[in-house]
Amino acid sequence: MPHITTVVIGAGQAGLAMSHCLSELLVDHVVIERGKVAQRWRSQSWDSLTLLTPNWMTRLPGFKYEGDDPDGFMSAPDLIALLDRYAVSSRAPIVSDTSVIRLVQTGERFRIITDHGAWSSDSVVIATGYCDLPAVPASSLGLSTSITQLAPANYRRPSQLPPGGVLIVGASATGVQLADEIQQSGREVTLAVGRHLRLPRHYRGRDILWWLDRLGVLDKAADAVHSIEASRNQPSLQLVGRPDHSSLDVGTLRERGVRLVGRVRAISGYDISLADDLIASTAAADIKMAEILTRIDRHIDSTGVPAEGPEPFRSTWPHTDSSPERLDLKSERIQTVIWATGCRRAYPWLQVPVLDRRGEIVHNGGFTPAFGLYVLGMNFQRRRNSSFIDGVGGDAWKIAEQIASSVSGVRVA
Ligand SMILES: Cc1cc2nc3c(=O)[nH]c(=O)nc-3n(C[C@H](O)[C@H](O)[C@H](O)COP(=O)(O)OP(=O)(O)OC[C@H]3O[C@@H](n4cnc5c(N)ncnc54)[C@H](O)[C@@H]3O)c2cc1C
Repeated sequence: MPHITTVVIGAGQAGLAMSHCLSELLVDHVVIERGKVAQRWRSQSWDSLTLLTPNWMTRLPGFKYEGDDPDGFMSAPDLIALLDRYAVSSRAPIVSDTSVIRLVQTGERFRIITDHGAWSSDSVVIATGYCDLPAVPASSLGLSTSITQLAPANYRRPSQLPPGGVLIVGASATGVQLADEIQQSGREVTLAVGRHLRLPRHYRGRDILWWLDRLGVLDKAADAVHSIEASRNQPSLQLVGRPDHSSLDVGTLRERGVRLVGRVRAISGYDISLADDLIASTAAADIKMAEILTRIDRHIDSTGVPAEGPEPFRSTWPHTDSSPERLDLKSERIQTVIWATGCRRAYPWLQVPVLDRRGEIVHNGGFTPAFGLYVLGMNFQRRRNSSFIDGVGGDAWKIAEQIASSVSGVRVA
């Protein structure tokens, strides 16, 4: 069994960033990937997917975007090509098409068993992704089998769906994009709206993420927030990356003909029971957005940073509307339900006792209780942007420095 200092599991942006940092610190390692570099983007992206972060936010250790469209948004194939180039330029030692099927700790060493042989190592970095699996509510089990159900990871384009209307559950970045695309293809779309974080694409002449970056919102440290659990459970930003830099929110979708309803509560066959919370959810998102925009306004006033003039606030919801309490999919001719309800993780191969009762890896900034075992790319791992392309690098450096300093004979640069 070959022995190596570090095994990194996964060659997405996190595994590649980790590899770059380890190489810089002269730590010998391999990156084991069950598919190819950026496999998630290759196999789980819908055709029209673009990043919601602008190109200038594509920053990884030893790499920053220097193309001619810093304010544009990359497609999935563009990002795959970029990560391929990054892997080559970092000389990442990738072992592709190899799945880790068991990870155990024996004494001070780890044994990494794959479907193509085993490795032994002093340390392991788990970089298998925050969005490993779709998080579909248990109520989906009650849905009639004649309704097609799918997660965004399996969605490619509207023409793939059976004829009929579509219910999309979840109104964060993915849900609103799919609702818009499917509605524009001529389908009747119903969007079940839960908790979401509404944001305009542009505000006072700049991309909203430029403002959040400048205000330090994105790299806010995990130990500086009131409740890290609550912060980790926040929905993703309701943003889309389009060439015209337009915003997309539930109000816009409603104007375009998408029917908005409340959260899905229970399902029995074709019958869907809905919460009476549409106004509450949209109002809460409006209030949160108003708070953020007010922070930006104050920042502009106090620093004098060049910006366009104040913009009027547009509420998403005329507060007189109400939404139905039930949906009968049969009579409404809804044939498809798409669960845009977020993602989860599972580690059936991990046999080191670092999982909590929910099956999540226990860690402090990526350091697990098992010495030498790390996790990278988690939501709000050390900072709010830890799972973003732009944020994973700082966390990778921390782990690489720890590994380098704990391995005798390895020089810390
Ligand atoms: C729809 C969507 C849009 C997003 N848009 C943006 C955006 O615009 N900007 C941004 O900054 N972030 C975005 N993110 C967040 C984040 O950038 C992605 O989730 C990104 O894929 C995370 O990279 P990662 O390397 O941590 O994980 P992944 O990309 O998931 O990589 C994990 C890798 O591990 C491999 N793997 C898993 N299990 C094993 C195993 N047992 N053995 C071997 N290999 C294994 C997988 O094949 C995969 O290649 C988005 C996320 C999603 C889901």
